[in-house]
Amino acid sequence: MTSASPAGRLAGRRVLVTGAGKGIGLETVRRLVADGAEVVALSRDPSDLARLAEETGCATLAVDLAELEPAAAAVAGALPFDGLVNNAGITSLQPVLETSMARFAEVLAVNTLAPLRLAQVVAGDLVQRGRNGAIVNVSSVAASIGLADHAAYCASKAALDALTRVLAVELGPHGIRTNSVNPTVTLTPMGALAWSDPAKSAPMLSRIPIGRFCRPGDVAGLISFLLGDDAAMLNGISIDVDGGLRVA
Ligand code: NAP
Repeated sequence: MTSASPAGRLAGRRVLVTGAGKGIGLETVRRLVADGAEVVALSRDPSDLARLAEETGCATLAVDLAELEPAAAAVAGALPFDGLVNNAGITSLQPVLETSMARFAEVLAVNTLAPLRLAQVVAGDLVQRGRNGAIVNVSSVAASIGLADHAAYCASKAALDALTRVLAVELGPHGIRTNSVNPTVTLTPMGALAWSDPAKSAPMLSRIPIGRFCRPGDVAGLISFLLGDDAAMLNGISIDVDGGLRVA
């Protein structure tokens, strides 16, 4: 559900959103367009992108971020951007004693290396042109708690939070802010993959004081805020979007 925000908060900003075909990325594109941004939506599935372009008027890039250098080249070809939302992410559910090194590396490639590589492309261009900008990394509460069967995912998101802080320190002096949003279980196709078994989801849900899982719109609104000037002094932080899970 997209709700309107102060009109035109992001007017005049051109923003790249990765993983825009489904879930949080899809809702984020809707929200940023509603807030006045010109959006380029990047995802893997061209049919998802075609539907989103028709609905919102966004531009699209059909790219697989697992192919890092072709993806970076495609994004370089779509410059300039004022904002980057590194939302695309994958998970792999394996007990830690059986975690495959190859699968672990695949998860790190999409969840951690791709955000770094795209930040190099987008922020490198901003620095070269002397322009301000903002990066939002979509991390997870998994960055700071241990979840069974999520070794690769938890490690990839903890590394993304660390990367967020380093980007903030190095790019802040250039007027480029970097923050992360860290949702709990969110009702998306990925959320269904990991949490559709009530035996797993019920104990997690019982730990959330607000009493529900996250909705994509809860995350999209925060991303829009972090991209805009109301967040001008926020840099290098990771914001839990978890209904109080981590403080309960
Ligand atoms: P989702 O429902 O699986 O949607 C992810 C989107 O990203 C899909 O459109 C997917 O394309 C795209 N994508 C995945 N890998 C890609 C790649 N290699 N190159 C380009 N696009 C790719 O996931 P979501 O739940 O919205 O998650 C979005 C972000 O939130 C992720 O970073 C995730 O880790 C994070 N998050 C999710 C939850 C949750 O419970 N859902 C909780 C905390 C954080 P395809 O459709 O082709 O796969």
